[in-house]
Amino acid sequence: MLDATRTIIPRKQHSVSRNLISPSALKVMHRLHSKGYEAFLVGGAVRDILLGLHPKDFDIATNAHPEEVHALFKNSRLIGRRFKLVHILFGREMIEVATFRGQAVDQGSKQSDSGMLLRDNVYGTIEEDAIRRDFTVNALYYNAQDFCIHDFLGSLADIKTRTIRMIGDPETRYREDPVRMLRALRFSAKLNFDISSETSGPIYELAYLLGNIAPARLFDEVLKLLLSGHAVSLFHDLLRYNLFTSLFPHVANTLQNDAQAKFYHSFIECGLENTDSRILANKPVTPAFLYATLLWPEVNRVWQQLQSEGIAEFPALQQAGQMAVQSQIQHISIPKRFSLMMKEIWEYQIRLKKTQGRRPQLLVQQPRFRAAYDFLLLREQAGEQLDGLGKWWTQFQIEHPAPSHASKKHYNKDSSRTKPKHRPKHPKQ
Ligand code: ATP
Ligand code: MG
Repeated sequence: MLDATRTIIPRKQHSVSRNLISPSALKVMHRLHSKGYEAFLVGGAVRDILLGLHPKDFDIATNAHPEEVHALFKNSRLIGRRFKLVHILFGREMIEVATFRGQAVDQGSKQSDSGMLLRDNVYGTIEEDAIRRDFTVNALYYNAQDFCIHDFLGSLADIKTRTIRMIGDPETRYREDPVRMLRALRFSAKLNFDISSETSGPIYELAYLLGNIAPARLFDEVLKLLLSGHAVSLFHDLLRYNLFTSLFPHVANTLQNDAQAKFYHSFIECGLENTDSRILANKPVTPAFLYATLLWPEVNRVWQQLQSEGIAEFPALQQAGQMAVQSQIQHISIPKRFSLMMKEIWEYQIRLKKTQGRRPQLLVQQPRFRAAYDFLLLREQAGEQLDGLGKWWTQFQIEHPAPSHASKKHYNKDSSRTKPKHRPKHPKQ
């Protein structure tokens, strides 16, 4: 078994200051300390502060058991089946508290044939907890009592050399939880770190294991990739490591084999570029638009095919959209409110061709117009010849500006838009 040797780094030798930590997280740690428990800030928060970034969330690890933590905080709830966690709510902020997890394979843990951990609710020591985290850079512990950082696995050295390195044997750890492959790519893109060759080595061959992950969890994980602000480079990484095929098998097939593959590739790139700049500008992004873009190669291919078999344009598109969504949700679930909007965006691609009479005036007032128009521009941007239709609509909107209150109302009411900061519904590993 992997050895964890503790190195303690005093406050003077690191840059994690209390001012950079959420006051709620500090409160939680102080309360646990006052009751005699150990409590550390862990994971991404310590990593991000060391790198001068703003942490997305603040996670705490403790030797108190979940029920004990829950009893200490009125504003808390116990969650999770595979592993119990405590969520402590401070207004809109949520602090996640996890009990140190152990390694024992036989006592409380269970594995599938492929090596996936099905159950691992065993508590352990802080050393064991460090070893079962995913990457060394995610396994630093900050003690709010004496302001020291505890490093068990050479994590600080990897932060210095900007390296994503799996703790333990990479293949075994990917088999235990294949989502770690996506996490490796995401952290590498987000932090601009290299993945060590031992850590990236097994990914291509093991990519198929993502097929064992629940579609609902993959929806959350893939959204984190797409909303990371680095969607374009992550799209290339997913393709390079063969992960895209596991996540979007039908689209991947079209991207590889279709006569229009080059166009589709560039269409997805344009869409993701667009998303990255919106995230950078702190503008909202809807998963519906993202998935409408990612599935378009498949929808368009089937749409053309059905028309060549004699089905009329509109029903053919409806059918193609339905088929693409139906086969995609076998792999990544897409909540209904998003898939409905995706279908509308696609169907509008026909509606937007009708530029005669009063129709355009009515169309621009529809809540889906904006997304559908953006989608149309994307198709043109990627090189599709649509006889200047995008330009026509741009001009039309300049000549017929919508009353400002109307567009604002639609925008605000649109619950299907997600702020860049997406909170996963599923408990962490
Ligand atoms: P960010 O919040 O910026 O996405 P993070 O590193 O904090 O990054 P979280 O998903 O918030 O990631 O998880 C918190 C910590 O829990 C991680 O830093 C890691 O130590 C551990 N962890 C999360 N998911 C896994 C996993 N699949 N396998 C092992 N450890 C994990
Ligand atoms: Mg985090």
